[in-house]
Amino acid sequence: MKYRSTRGTADQAINSAAAIIQGLAPDGGLYVPVTFPQPTFSLDQLVGLSYQETAKLVLSWFFDDYSDEQLQDSVTAAYGSQFDDAKIVPVTAKTAGNYYMELFHGPTLAFKDLALQVLPQLMTRAVKLQGVDHNIVILTATSGDTGTASMRGFQDVDGTQVIVFYPHGGVSPVQLRQMLTQQGRNLKVVAVEGNFDQAQANVKKIFGDREFGQQLAQAGHQFSSANSMNIGRLIPQIAYYFYTYAQMVAQQTIQLGDQLSFTVPTGNFGDILAGYYAKKLGLPIKKLICASNQNNVLTDFFKTGKYDRNRPFFLTNSPSMDILVSSNLERLLFDAADQDETVVQDLMQQLAQTGAYQISDDMRAQLSDFAAGFASEADIQAEIKRVYETDGYAIDPHTAVASAVAHRYQAEEDGTTPMVVLSTASPYKFPETVLKAITEQPVEPGLKAVNQLNQLLQDTLPAGVRDLFELKERAEVVVEPDEMKQYIQTHL
Ligand SMILES: *Cc1c(COP(=O)(O)O)cnc(C)c1O
Repeated sequence: MKYRSTRGTADQAINSAAAIIQGLAPDGGLYVPVTFPQPTFSLDQLVGLSYQETAKLVLSWFFDDYSDEQLQDSVTAAYGSQFDDAKIVPVTAKTAGNYYMELFHGPTLAFKDLALQVLPQLMTRAVKLQGVDHNIVILTATSGDTGTASMRGFQDVDGTQVIVFYPHGGVSPVQLRQMLTQQGRNLKVVAVEGNFDQAQANVKKIFGDREFGQQLAQAGHQFSSANSMNIGRLIPQIAYYFYTYAQMVAQQTIQLGDQLSFTVPTGNFGDILAGYYAKKLGLPIKKLICASNQNNVLTDFFKTGKYDRNRPFFLTNSPSMDILVSSNLERLLFDAADQDETVVQDLMQQLAQTGAYQISDDMRAQLSDFAAGFASEADIQAEIKRVYETDGYAIDPHTAVASAVAHRYQAEEDGTTPMVVLSTASPYKFPETVLKAITEQPVEPGLKAVNQLNQLLQDTLPAGVRDLFELKERAEVVVEPDEMKQYIQTHL
């Protein structure tokens, strides 16, 4: 299996280990398989597989330069006792109308752990496979959850250094505390005076800066990425779509071969793209519903074919989705353009120059697997309350975006196909918003909110939250967006 850039030709393709180390292609594009795998499997084979077995199977379809043993060791190390549920990703049915795929049982309480526990395993083995002797510098822009999850995943991994940039004032109190309390001699975390899009744009620019890259190479360093732009992070996310399907067959909520729809709270378009790849691999998915918060650039895109980031940027209570430039959409555009890299180049150039582009009717016709909707701040609060009052079940604000959009979709478009909502974070990661929605009273932030939510829910506090407020915090380091490169230079 070879990987090419969405902006480059197939004759420049590289193998998966090299693509994982590089993260982003040198031309600014994203790596995609040259020939998308068409594995032969029957769905009934998947029923009864453990999460680890499912993940290994999916990885083996894409990463064939790794040995069976390397993949086995990777999934065993990634999906173990650091998760607080033996199923890793349990699915739960609620009378409020949906199935919730709980992706938050990992060490940092958000779905990013599913990919970022395994990425370091794949990365360190890739370094060996490729004979790379540079120190790998994981450069990451985060909207809140990728930062902690990548620090946690790469903590003290030999030959790696992590530098995380997050938007100053743009993350929740628990997210901030999680980032500032990470331990490990190879971790740096920096606030940027700007929003996530600015941080991500600068990270991409630094990646594309060849002169800087050469300077670093001389000093023994090489950049890589832990964002969902990295194919080594995206592919592991396909596993939970298959695993959920198999669980629902095992629970007899669906029959083998039945279709499911998924609603995905979306920011950088990585999670939902993994669902689209699952469908391409043959999983019976009817629709993938792209759910946005008030930053609803993707809702408009799917409704009109026009992507336009020239609009106000809102800081919402679902901060991990406060994004106006969704990087992974480029991989979908590449498919919709029948793998024509010149079309992608042209659209991405328009986006860079004018902040907008319009796709052709032919391309739009290729997007029929998707539907889209968004939830306002008021919708999110109402949905948290509705689900809590119906089921005694607390959902976090990101999950609530998807849950609200799914609920509307079921009422207006399709009320018969079973609907799975991707539950991307634990309510304990955003206790202030969850409590305020449920109690409609003012809430004190931080530890007080955590304890108050715990009293209300009467459940076991996740380990990741229990210890959080006892750990020592680093002081916050803040830089301007144009100082990010300088920071890297001085700290490597
Ligand atoms: C990152 C994140 C999202 C958005 O996922 P993308 O892959 O960026 O679309 C949604 N919810 C939570 C809690 C997240 O951390």
